[in-house]
Amino acid sequence: MQIYLKMLFIFFTVMNVTFAHDSRSPSSIENHSLDQVSKHIYVVHGTQELPNPKSRGFMNNPAAILTNNGVIIIDPGSSTEIGKQLLKKVKEVSNKPVIAVFNTHVHGDHWLGNHGIREIYPKVPIYAHRRMIERVNRGDGEEWLKLLMGMTKGAVAGTKIVGPNIGVTDGEELSIDGMKLKFHHTGHAHTDHDLMIEVSEDKALFFGDIVAAKRVPNSDVPQDANFKGSITAIKTMLTRPIDIYIPGHGVSGGREVPETSLHFLETLHSSVTKYFNQGLESFEMKKKVRTDLNKYKDWNNFNEIDRLINFVYQEVERDNF
Ligand SMILES: [Zn+2]
Ligand SMILES: [Zn+2]
Repeated sequence: MQIYLKMLFIFFTVMNVTFAHDSRSPSSIENHSLDQVSKHIYVVHGTQELPNPKSRGFMNNPAAILTNNGVIIIDPGSSTEIGKQLLKKVKEVSNKPVIAVFNTHVHGDHWLGNHGIREIYPKVPIYAHRRMIERVNRGDGEEWLKLLMGMTKGAVAGTKIVGPNIGVTDGEELSIDGMKLKFHHTGHAHTDHDLMIEVSEDKALFFGDIVAAKRVPNSDVPQDANFKGSITAIKTMLTRPIDIYIPGHGVSGGREVPETSLHFLETLHSSVTKYFNQGLESFEMKKKVRTDLNKYKDWNNFNEIDRLINFVYQEVERDNF
């Protein structure tokens, strides 16, 4: 984690270059619309940029599922302020109380907003994969808050670490105010504790960060990821009866959303494996792998590809040991 913090801070200082490919300019959550993606589900599709002072740290896809008597919140963003702004937006479509919150994984842009929800609904249960609870207890929240404070120059100040309090795992189902939710975890993928949430009635799936639209998957925190596991997760979910896929970053859509992430990951993994088998070291194969992935060069975070190749190389090496 420490190494990551340093690397990201270094990256942050030269980050302006990466903004060139973003379709949305940096802005805080108030400037983004609440989009209805299915009968019961609304998503604020965030900016693709890393947290910065102008966005006040906002970058993920916070969402709300409306039930008959309440609202279920998924991934309420990076700070107390963003969590509260999300509630304000949801008020446009429902005046019912928040009855549950879900966190897809421990990366801070997805869940530090829990605090904002609990400020208004002090007793609301917060669910996540049970290993996320362990990671928050280990101090991941403090690390993320420190990182976001630096990147936003203090815009996330006042945020307190409020972790999930109820652990769930693969295969479990829950009916919340009549809304049936099914949880999926196919093993280590974007992290070792991803929670994918299927909303059966809407044939919708919250993918967390296993899938990202027009963004290089696993490029922000590659040291937490397993690339082969990410491929397995997407392939498994593509067999489910789903019509609408909600990625952790980027715009929601049909099968093309996970399929595009899958194709990227498969090309990356098979390219690194091919050159590994030819006896090339990680640094020797970078140019070749980049050429194999050329059609994705306009994606957000593609400039992180060399770093990603190092991690995939290590994984391929481990799997071949
Ligand atoms: Zn993530
Ligand atoms: Zn994320």
